[in-house]
Amino acid sequence: MTHTAPASENAASTGTTVPITVIRGDGIGPEVMDATLRLMREAGARIDVEECIAGAEVFRSGDQTGVPDDTIVSIQRTGVALKGPLETPIGFGEKSANVTLRKLFETYGNIRPAREIPGLATPYAGRGVDLVIVRENLEDLYAGIEHMQTPGVCLSLKVITHHGSEKIARLAFEYARSTGRKSVTCATKANIMKLGEGLFKRTFDEVAVEYPDIEARQILVDNCAHQLVIRPEQFDVIVTTNMNGDILSDLTSGLVGGLGFAPSANIGSETAMFEAVHGSAPDIAGKDIANPSALMLSSAMLLRHVGQQDIANAIEDAILFTLEDGRCLTGDIAKDHDPVGTTAFTDAVVGNLGKVPTIGERRVSTPIKMPAKDWRPRPIVATTREVVGMEVLLEEPDMTAAEVGAAVEACTEGSPMRLALISSRGNKVYPGDIDDVEMIETWRCRFVRADEGIELTDDHIFRVLSCLGQTFRWSNVQKLQVFDGEPGYTKVSGED
Ligand code: NAP
Repeated sequence: MTHTAPASENAASTGTTVPITVIRGDGIGPEVMDATLRLMREAGARIDVEECIAGAEVFRSGDQTGVPDDTIVSIQRTGVALKGPLETPIGFGEKSANVTLRKLFETYGNIRPAREIPGLATPYAGRGVDLVIVRENLEDLYAGIEHMQTPGVCLSLKVITHHGSEKIARLAFEYARSTGRKSVTCATKANIMKLGEGLFKRTFDEVAVEYPDIEARQILVDNCAHQLVIRPEQFDVIVTTNMNGDILSDLTSGLVGGLGFAPSANIGSETAMFEAVHGSAPDIAGKDIANPSALMLSSAMLLRHVGQQDIANAIEDAILFTLEDGRCLTGDIAKDHDPVGTTAFTDAVVGNLGKVPTIGERRVSTPIKMPAKDWRPRPIVATTREVVGMEVLLEEPDMTAAEVGAAVEACTEGSPMRLALISSRGNKVYPGDIDDVEMIETWRCRFVRADEGIELTDDHIFRVLSCLGQTFRWSNVQKLQVFDGEPGYTKVSGED
C-alpha cells in the first residue's frame, strides 16, 4: 500500500487538471457546494469534477448504506473528494453515510485546523490562535464494539493499536513538516488508561525520534482542554485518540468562531476527503442564507493536498479578506451590517480574489508526504508470552461479595488457578472486609496461577468456566497475559 501522495503530486508540477469527486450532500449542502465550486473555478483551480451522490436521497431509494457503488468507484478512481454534509434520515439504514465512507476508505486521520478568523468577534480575537487537531479516526471507542452484559451493565471496548497509533503520529509529524509547524503535542489520558492511551503515548514517542526537527510534547488531555481555554496560543499541532480528538476539535473550533468556520480533511492511505465540520442544517436549507465559509476553507485544504498551493492561498485570502472587511456577511455572523445571503457572500468572496487579509502570516505548505513504506498492519511480536490467569464477568444480583467469593473459590478446587480477587466497577470487593463500595449485579473475578511454574492452558480455563456456569451467568472472559515479562493487564484499584 502506498500512502496518500495524491495522483495530483504530478499534477502540481505539471499544472494539469486533477479529477475530484464531489458530493453535494443534503440540506444546505448543495447551496454551500455550489458556492464553493464557483469560487474554486473563479480562482482558477485545475479540477475536473465528477459529481456523485450519497446521503438522504440514497437511503430513501432503498440503499441501506447511503453510498451507491458509482460514488465508491469514483472516489477510488480520483482519490480525492469534496463532500457536503450528509444526513441519515430517521428510519433508514443503521449507519450514517459518513460512517460508511469513513470505514470504506479507511480515512484514519482527521485534520481540523483552528485559526483565528479576522473580523470575527470571539473572546480570543487578537490572540493569534493557529493550531491543528490531528485526530485518529478509526479506532478507540468509535470502533463501535459494545455489549450489554446485563440489561443494566454495558461494556464498550476502547481499541487502540500500535499500527493505528503509529500512522496517526506520523501523519501529525508529516503534517507539521508540510506546513512549517514547530511542535506536535500528544494528548492522552495515559495516567488512567495506562495500557490503551499508554500505547498511543509510547508509540508517539517512538515516532517522534524520527522527526528531530519538530518538538514533541506530551500532555494529559484534561490539562490540554484547560490549557486550550487558558492559553491556546501555546499549541501548534495536537495529535490524539479518536474520542479525545472529537471533543478537543469542537472546543478548538469554538475558540475561533464556531463550527460554521471549521474545515476538515479526512485522510486515508489512498483517499482524502474534505468537508465542512457542520451538518446539513435542514432548518435553513434552500433559503440562500447558509454560510459557505467552512466548505470553502475545506476546498483550500483540498487544493493544498493536490499541490495547487497558489489557488488554495488565493481562496483562503479572499474568504478571510471578506470576513475581515465585514460589510458582506451571512446572518450567522453579521453584526454591524444587514446580513447577505449565500449567493451575495460568494459574489463578495469571488470579487475579493487577489486581495490579502491583514491577519498573520500565510503558511507555506506542501502536500503531506507519508514515508514510502509498507503500511500494511504488521503484528508486534513478543519474544516471550504466557497466559497467567483469566478474568470472568459474572452476573449475580442477590449474593454478597463474600457469598460470590465462596462460590467462585469452590470452582477452583483441583485447578491450577486460584481466585485472586473480585472487583466491582474496577474496585476490589473481595477478599477483605470491604463495605464502602457500591455493589452492582456484575462481579469481575480475577484468577491467577496457583503456582508461578505452571503453564495455563485453555483446558484449565474451560474447566473453571464450566463450573462457574453452573451457578452464575457469565458474559465476558478475558485471558491475563504477560508479554516479554510485562503484564498485559492493569491492577485493580485496591489490589496489592
Ligand atoms: P448542523 O447541521 O451543523 O446545524 C446546527 C445549526 O448550526 C443549524 O441549525 C444552524 O443554526 C447552524 N449552522 C450549521 N451550519 C451552518 C452554516 N453553514 N451557516 C449558517 N448556520 C449554520 O447540526 P445538526 O442540526 O446537529 O445536524 C443536522 C444533520 O446534519 C443531521 O442529520 C446530522 O446527522 C448531519 N450531520 C452531518 C455531518 C457531516 O456530514 N459531516 C456533520 C454533522 C451533522 P441556526 O439554527 O442558528 O440557523
